[in-house]
Amino acid sequence: MRWRGRRQSGNVEDRRGRGLVRSKKGVGGGAMIILILAGLFFGEDVQKILSLFVGNPGTQTASTPQQSSTPAQNDEAKQFVSVVLAETEDTWAAVFAQAGQRYQPPKLVLYQDQVQSACGVGSAASGPFYCPGDYQIYIDLSFLNELRRMGAPGDFAFAYVIAHEVGHHIQNLTGTATQVRQLQSRASRAEANALSVRLELQADCYAGIWTNHTEKRAALLEPGDIEEGLAAAAAVGDDRLLKQAGRAPRRENFTHGSSQERMEWFQRGMQTGDIQACNTFG
Ligand SMILES: [Zn+2]
Repeated sequence: MRWRGRRQSGNVEDRRGRGLVRSKKGVGGGAMIILILAGLFFGEDVQKILSLFVGNPGTQTASTPQQSSTPAQNDEAKQFVSVVLAETEDTWAAVFAQAGQRYQPPKLVLYQDQVQSACGVGSAASGPFYCPGDYQIYIDLSFLNELRRMGAPGDFAFAYVIAHEVGHHIQNLTGTATQVRQLQSRASRAEANALSVRLELQADCYAGIWTNHTEKRAALLEPGDIEEGLAAAAAVGDDRLLKQAGRAPRRENFTHGSSQERMEWFQRGMQTGDIQACNTFG
């Protein structure tokens, strides 16, 4: 990717080297999980409940920077993450504007080993994740080694992962994530897993949309980049991961989709650039 010299997002928060610090939002992970569950069982609008505690995602970006106990690092990986996040901000701001809406971008937290989120404690082992409760993406950069180990090296492979997590943020903003969680709360395990697959494949499709729009706007891609993205999508397919873990790749245990499906939905978004093409629930 030709990413150097492009705008870097101001929404990256570097918590590396700070250890496990309590959420500065004032509500501990345990309380937040109870709130989320309460919302699911009582049919409340979870986002409304959460917004009482974590505030509007748009207002958080204006808060003053936290004093870090270690000097701010500005290494290449952080710069790369900041550029990719900025490109997703430009893409989704344009897509939302077309629908007459304003895009509220997520924050992206870089951490090391363990991190406190509104969804509980995240660890490097769980890989990058998005927490709907605080509208934040959490990434431990050791995941880059993991991607390499899984046979998906390259900068665009990592960009696809970031764009996928931003895809979950879009689902949070549109209400799709809340609807799916409500359906899952009254579904069987197999049905709940099938719903999770649809949500994940849609996030892959949204990553494809980002690729399409960014390429039109900025022409960042170099030969081999698309292949890197597809390799990453395939590497995180359930069939491959279950096989690697020595388990039978049974469909009812899938939560993210097969390698083939993940590549297909990423490609669909990339080819069309149209959010309507990402209806994995149809
Ligand atoms: Zn996902």
